[in-house]
Amino acid sequence: MNYKIFDAHCDTLCLLNDLGASFEKNNFHIDRRRMEQYDRYTQVFACFIDPVYKNSAMERFIELSDTFYSQNIGGILSIEGGEMITSLKVLRSLARQGVRIAALTWNSSNHIASGVLEPDKNRGLTEFGKTVVREMNRINMLIDYSHLNDKSFFDIANISNAPIIATHSNSRAVCGHPRNLTDEQFKLIVKTGGCAGINFYPLFLNYSGHAGIDDIVKHIEHFMSLGGERNIGIGADFDGVDYLPEGIRGCGEVYKVLDRLLELNYTEEQVNNISHGNFERIFYGG
Ligand SMILES: [Zn+2]
Repeated sequence: MNYKIFDAHCDTLCLLNDLGASFEKNNFHIDRRRMEQYDRYTQVFACFIDPVYKNSAMERFIELSDTFYSQNIGGILSIEGGEMITSLKVLRSLARQGVRIAALTWNSSNHIASGVLEPDKNRGLTEFGKTVVREMNRINMLIDYSHLNDKSFFDIANISNAPIIATHSNSRAVCGHPRNLTDEQFKLIVKTGGCAGINFYPLFLNYSGHAGIDDIVKHIEHFMSLGGERNIGIGADFDGVDYLPEGIRGCGEVYKVLDRLLELNYTEEQVNNISHGNFERIFYGG
């Protein structure tokens, strides 16, 4: 296929690690065999710290990153859940391990910030969290805003000088789920030259639990209407969700979304920006 893809979030590392499966070929949403059908497929692999590992977060990170390196996976390493960031020294050490982007919380709160399920709407970035954000800026580790509650989102946006990235979040105006971005948040993404990765999970697409490719397109259309032509990417959430939209079984079918955009008279340049260019500009510069 003549597409280049950059997908900013998947949870495949957890499955590979926990089930001892192979990255070459498997029954998950992502494997090397299907990625190689494309001209180029760059994937950000998250080390997701499930809450059951909150007291052994560093050990969990080490195991997942070992799977990433020992299976020679390639792509980009990220963190989803900052429980292991207990000091700025640890943070810098994670950067040296290859972590380019980090979500500081998953859905609940921790010593850094608050996630979308935090019941206290006024709980946001902590004092320690402020030092983490400033150090991430300094060492050029990107911040993933996807799972933050609104207070933490704006607290971090207020002090960070890096582009705002939500690796796997849709539009709340299209589907009113708290994991999705408000128009105000997306406009800040545009303003800072950041990017939002469109999440393929049906519950974040239309709330009904059943979705198709046109539901994905609706979120792209809405972000386009807010001036986001250079701020929309893909963050399908493969292997982090229990089911996908009709017609999509995994990374082998991402092309169908791009085909649909071309059918709708999006230009090749616009489709290339969405498929990979917008995220690549942030991760690789240019
Ligand atoms: Zn996630």
